[in-house]
Amino acid sequence: MSEPTLFERIIAREIPADIVYEDERVIAFRDINPQAPMHILVCPKKPIPKVADAAAADDELLGYVLRKAGEIATAEGHGEGFRLVVNNGAPVGQTVFHIHVHVLGGRGFGWPPG
Ligand code: AMP
Repeated sequence: MSEPTLFERIIAREIPADIVYEDERVIAFRDINPQAPMHILVCPKKPIPKVADAAAADDELLGYVLRKAGEIATAEGHGEGFRLVVNNGAPVGQTVFHIHVHVLGGRGFGWPPG
């Protein structure tokens, strides 16, 4: 067994986090190093390392994560405009290998992304 990731440890309450939403399938908490006024991470509780590792059996769960990300952004007052980011792999900046959706809002965002 590999070591539990940071996010598994947050799910297990071994590490504190500012949790904004949780149910049996997902958890959402504020990023410790926010890049926007709203910066929340939404994670499935199932520890899938990255998008490229997802299986067909995860389709419904990942759709659920996406829908919850939208609901949380709306509940935070940013339903009119928010950006979702999912890093897949160290070359593009993934640092925690447990799938998570960054939910960012409260400022403008450029395109293309950096
Ligand atoms: P990524 O680089 O896409 O893997 O995103 C990982 C995110 O986790 C980064 O934005 C970090 O700031 C954030 N992060 C790291 N440690 C914690 C923590 N203890 N609580 C909340 N967010 C964290």
